[in-house]
Amino acid sequence: MSEGALVLFSGGQDSTTCLAWALDRYERVETLGFDYGQRHRVELERRAALRDGLAALKPEWRERLGEDHTIALPALGELSDTALTRDVEIKFGESGLPNTFVPGRNIVFLTFAAALAYRRGLKRIVGGMCETDFSGYPDCRDDTIKALQVALNLGMESRFSLETPLMWLDKAQTWALAEDLGGSALVELIVEDTHTCYLGTRGARHAWGYGCGACPACDLRARGFERYTAARA
Ligand code: ZN
Repeated sequence: MSEGALVLFSGGQDSTTCLAWALDRYERVETLGFDYGQRHRVELERRAALRDGLAALKPEWRERLGEDHTIALPALGELSDTALTRDVEIKFGESGLPNTFVPGRNIVFLTFAAALAYRRGLKRIVGGMCETDFSGYPDCRDDTIKALQVALNLGMESRFSLETPLMWLDKAQTWALAEDLGGSALVELIVEDTHTCYLGTRGARHAWGYGCGACPACDLRARGFERYTAARA
């Protein structure tokens, strides 16, 4: 029971890599997705195909992969007037944060995840938050996650461990981690089946996958893939 993990799994590149990371380590792994009216809801539709794809990569991953959960959080979408939930142009505001920032999103996600993990008897909560190559979202910072771990453990009288395997990796290193975990088959699965584009468009198939090719999420993914492939050559 103590080796169980709950992975925040959106269907994007980062959370799919985190899911593979958890399947490599823990005996029982369940997944959780949030529907908060995000524009890139297409990523949620990728989740089932990705879970099937990961289970097909290794027999032990198939054995370890447990239940999938979805939590609807329409209130988060209603509260946040951002480019992730509204049909407006993505740009940077005066605070230096892009208007894709949904205030407190990861704090809300991790709190709901902990409540679910409590009920499911899972000790580890795994998320793709990253401080290295990120857009400056303050709730992705290592300090935020560590503070939240303390708060959740006090508030739920538990010993949850919030684990963020991508925290200190850049996007090229995230691709390399996927290769370490599942070889070129996992890299191919991530290219084909994950969704990262903020605009929620599958768009054209690029070397790094599908997307509009122009939004900040596509840009980050494309540049990371370029550096990853250059380092391998
Ligand atoms: Zn895009």
